[in-house]
Amino acid sequence: MMQTVRGVHDILPDEVAIWQFLEAKALTIFGLYGFTEIRSPLFEKTELFARAVGATTDIVEKEMYTFADRGGDSLSLRPEGTASVVRSFVQQSLHRQLPWKVWYRGPMFRYERPQKGRQRQFHQIGCELFGPVGPLADAELMAMVMHYLGDVGLQAALVLEINSLGCLACRTPYRALLIAALRQAAAHLCEDCNHRMERNPLRVLDCKRETCRATVTAAPIMLDHLCLGCRDHFYQLKGHLETLGVPYVVNPRMVRGLDYYNRTAFEVTSVGLGAQNAVAAGGRYDGLVEQMGGTSTPAIGFAMGMERLVLLLDRQKILARGMDVYLATLGASAENAGLVLAETLRRGGISVELNLGGGSLKSQMKRADRAQARFTVMLGDTEIEKRSVIIKDMAEGVQQEVARSEIMDYLLTRL
Ligand code: ATP
Ligand code: MG
Repeated sequence: MMQTVRGVHDILPDEVAIWQFLEAKALTIFGLYGFTEIRSPLFEKTELFARAVGATTDIVEKEMYTFADRGGDSLSLRPEGTASVVRSFVQQSLHRQLPWKVWYRGPMFRYERPQKGRQRQFHQIGCELFGPVGPLADAELMAMVMHYLGDVGLQAALVLEINSLGCLACRTPYRALLIAALRQAAAHLCEDCNHRMERNPLRVLDCKRETCRATVTAAPIMLDHLCLGCRDHFYQLKGHLETLGVPYVVNPRMVRGLDYYNRTAFEVTSVGLGAQNAVAAGGRYDGLVEQMGGTSTPAIGFAMGMERLVLLLDRQKILARGMDVYLATLGASAENAGLVLAETLRRGGISVELNLGGGSLKSQMKRADRAQARFTVMLGDTEIEKRSVIIKDMAEGVQQEVARSEIMDYLLTRL
């Protein structure tokens, strides 16, 4: 039997309503803040991700789906969305029309160890904001994330964590301090961290292993070593969040897996997800556009993991409202009349599941239940003669005869 690739899943019809709900909310909420959607390619030159995400990141070192196309170019399935958006920004010289605000949705690909909330093909909704350099933009973006998560019904379960990663000027000396401290503690750190610590030492602070976590509590933190500009930026950001009434906690050991971040980093975490507890993550990347060959432009963005949001949502509340009507028919002439009636109702905006294949009334009522129909409309020879139908309210259990000419009004006033 053919099966999906490990770590890759179908999103089945039963689940799709939740995804559509999340996407529709993104369109609405992000629209309130002036963001419009961009659709980037699913694959790019490998070099784009190596340069944007960073050659020493886990993503580029071991998680990309990289292949040579028939012309011999090295291409990769996108592991994240920011690199393509930045490429697009540079390619189209958009620095002339700032601010540029875009959001995206879609699949990302990483060769990771699949577990709950961690797939090899997963989906993100993300936003990128180009132009503003000050902390107002950071605060507004975080307010937008929390607005979105609140609107889909999740805010109560979530915590906004913030940190500052400094800038090139203050991170360089801090990095040296950190490496020195990590070297001293090397014996207590896992193999991965021993490997990481020279090349990407900040990542060690973020290791999920219990022993590493305990060990790094003693390591120096960036927040104690920020330069004046970075300290001020962080201080103002906290003030703006307080003014907005957006609750947050400072997590000085939160770093980002990707190299391009500076200053503000943030994550939204949930208590309900176990080890994979980050539902959204983002931050400022003021140097990336220039690094990618564009005109230096500050920027900030975030991405949310949709599978993790889906895990947290109360399905019952969102799941597909059923059909408005199940149309049950008994006998050949009723089947003909039903075909026409169903079409008429649909043109009036009423969703109809029509009985397409005989069956007793009892078996059709079962199908009506399965379609979660609000009403079952029953049509047999008697009703055809009387130019009427029987309409059963499935929740109330009551039924009523309604004239054919009245059906549309009858249903529309009750739906
Ligand atoms: P994590 O620490 O969970 O690996 P990350 O730092 O790799 O996350 P980002 O690259 O910042 O995450 O991606 C943003 C969001 O995308 C994450 O917070 C998470 O919700 C989601 N995400 C990342 N990788 C996966 C994956 N393999 N499967 C499902 N969701 C993912
Ligand atoms: Mg990861």
